[in-house]
Amino acid sequence: MDHLTPDKRSQQMARMKAVNTAPEIAVRKLLHAAGYRYRIHRRDLPGKPDIVFSARQKVIFIHGCFWHQHADCRRASKPKSNTGYWSQKLRRNVERDAAHLQKLSELGWQALVVWECDLKDPSGLFSSLVNFLGPPLLRPRKNLRN
Ligand SMILES: [Zn+2]
Repeated sequence: MDHLTPDKRSQQMARMKAVNTAPEIAVRKLLHAAGYRYRIHRRDLPGKPDIVFSARQKVIFIHGCFWHQHADCRRASKPKSNTGYWSQKLRRNVERDAAHLQKLSELGWQALVVWECDLKDPSGLFSSLVNFLGPPLLRPRKNLRN
């Protein structure tokens, strides 16, 4: 039931991998305010992780619950029409995500997936982030005067 031309489909995929989505920005603000420093969208890593902590060899993905099919999440419910097309497409997304996580782990990177719906509980989310990353590296006080 794939009625889209390859052109249309790649446009749609491009939108799916849109950068700087609202959930991404919210997570980045949380991290930055806590003193974490990071890079974003490193293209040389599998899956082009949204947030990258190079020195810690850790990455964070911020996933939309629908596109990445968050398990047991009501935001991940599939459309009622065109079901063959959607289940195939969404299954491919899930498989691709799993392959990226596997590759990253083989390369020695640890990854955390933050789901769009995790943002409903910012303090819970923040604890998970700190658990995953370890404490932020705060500059020694003397450096602030230089
Ligand atoms: Zn969710």
